[in-house]
Amino acid sequence: MKIGFIGLGNMGGPMAANLARAGHAVAGFDLAAPMPEGVAKAATAAEAAAGAEVVITMLPNGAILRAVAAEVIPAMAAGAVFCDCSTVDVDSARAAAAQAAAAGLGALDAPVSGGVGGATAGTLTFMVGGSADAFAKVKPLFDVMGQKAVHCGEAGAGQAAKICNNMILGVTMIATCEAFALADKLGLDRQKMFDVVSTSSGYSWSMNAYCPAPGVGPQSPADNGYKPGFAAELMLKDLRLSQQAAEAADADTPMGQLAAALYARFVEDEDGKGQDFSAMLPRFVGRHRE
Ligand code: NAD
Repeated sequence: MKIGFIGLGNMGGPMAANLARAGHAVAGFDLAAPMPEGVAKAATAAEAAAGAEVVITMLPNGAILRAVAAEVIPAMAAGAVFCDCSTVDVDSARAAAAQAAAAGLGALDAPVSGGVGGATAGTLTFMVGGSADAFAKVKPLFDVMGQKAVHCGEAGAGQAAKICNNMILGVTMIATCEAFALADKLGLDRQKMFDVVSTSSGYSWSMNAYCPAPGVGPQSPADNGYKPGFAAELMLKDLRLSQQAAEAADADTPMGQLAAALYARFVEDEDGKGQDFSAMLPRFVGRHRE
């Protein structure tokens, strides 16, 4: 397939490389990042998109997505699909989809889970909003870049799934970290805490697969000095998106709100910036009750 790929950073770079390795003709554009092996460099985003059957974007935020969509959509060939894989607000995803539809194009919002490791290994999970036709057309590409693609519903449904998932993740990571810090103060060994909770009703992905305590459970960023992994500031971005969506939809999300406030404090006032989001554990250790 002929593909335009815009935004070749930490995630987009390896995703585009996997598409090229699978035999697709990929033209890439990024303001700064180098082209991965096998990807032809285009001079502009519109040039990368011209003549492509699918245009994929992997960009930092909704404002940039809107700007890139405005440039790229008029350059796209009839019948092509605009597929945004960035994590952005639901409104920007729907605005890009509406603009594509008005130009007679297909559109998908297809944010991912799995991080840089999943992007490199081609094992991402895609959560996808948009028409069944557009989903069917891009599905073979999702199968190259990932291990699972769930068609969640119409435009915006992929972003909705992503921010709901990450709200749960932020809340459970904080709960897991504060429970470890409480266990420390109660004199409970961390390994024993893991052995019990990972097989009891307090288990979660945060505990079982990404344990925030070093030396306990499977390898995780905690075993690597809390080098990300998934940076605390990216978790803050996603929690803010979920709170923005909750406000717009009039949904009551007190735990998500508290998680957003705690990560904001951690990233902006404490030393969380640049650390993995599981570094909430050392943050809680040694603190006193507020
Ligand atoms: P990144 O900053 O490494 O990459 C973004 C790229 O977009 C950069 O290379 C930048 O130069 C480029 N860019 C910015 N504006 C541009 C423009 N106008 N035209 C062309 N290129 C432009 O970020 P990333 O980690 O690759 O994340 C990308 C998206 O994926 C984000 O929305 C993020 O929330 C989401 N995401 C990231 C992870 C992760 O673990 N890194 C996991 C899941 C989802």
